[in-house]
Amino acid sequence: MSILGGGIFKGMAVTLRNFVGSYFSKERFITTNEYSWRPESELPQSIGDYPKEEGEQLSDTTTVNHYSRNFPMLLHDTGEPMDTIRCVACQICERECPPQCIYIEKSTEKKENADGKPQFYPAKFDIDVSVCMSCQICVEVCPFDAIVMNSQFELSTPDRFGGLLVRRDDLLKSNDYYHKIHPQEAATRDERMAADKAAKEAKKKAAAEKAKAAAEAKAAAAEAANESKEDTE
Ligand code: SF4
Ligand code: SF4
Repeated sequence: MSILGGGIFKGMAVTLRNFVGSYFSKERFITTNEYSWRPESELPQSIGDYPKEEGEQLSDTTTVNHYSRNFPMLLHDTGEPMDTIRCVACQICERECPPQCIYIEKSTEKKENADGKPQFYPAKFDIDVSVCMSCQICVEVCPFDAIVMNSQFELSTPDRFGGLLVRRDDLLKSNDYYHKIHPQEAATRDERMAADKAAKEAKKKAAAEKAKAAAEAKAAAAEAANESKEDTE
């Protein structure tokens, strides 16, 4: 026979067993990962190196793993960031961001992207990380694989307003960096992009061949019509 509220007592018994057991048994030693802060005496004076540099953050396996995410970053391919930026400033992410913390200004002219094709680019792209809730919706909606989540977690700053508004040039990270912090996700994305590109090129080639065949058929029909006209005359 089940007693009303019996599940609550069972749950509390498990909690109590773990709580008491955590003082005696190593298996029940349930703690969160400890972040090893530098001793107070070593705290730096400027925010530039407070408290960990990016490289240190990435190698800090106690707090960062392949699945962690914090705030978004903009991707660029191999080369100069602004010459190979993927973002075309379509502003879809800006519209879809639930707390509206993305601000984009589209360029007035186009410039060549990594494939040598002219594209618009963001003249301004700011994210207010004091508002961003790390939902990743901007990543899901981007049709150009231009925005993904970063793992950088230490963004402390004494500047409450300007310091938490991350600008385009600070948001820009290379695809190599993306592979370093999220290897599986980056590899899957690269594979999908390569497959999409190959499919698009195959479709374009098939359309060009079809157009060529149609033009040839049209020319042959015109020639045949011409010949039959000459025969009747
Ligand atoms: S992660 Fe979410 S809240 Fe943050 S910028 Fe992207 S859509 Fe906006
Ligand atoms: S990040 Fe993507 S969705 Fe956002 S503006 Fe750039 S291309 Fe468009």
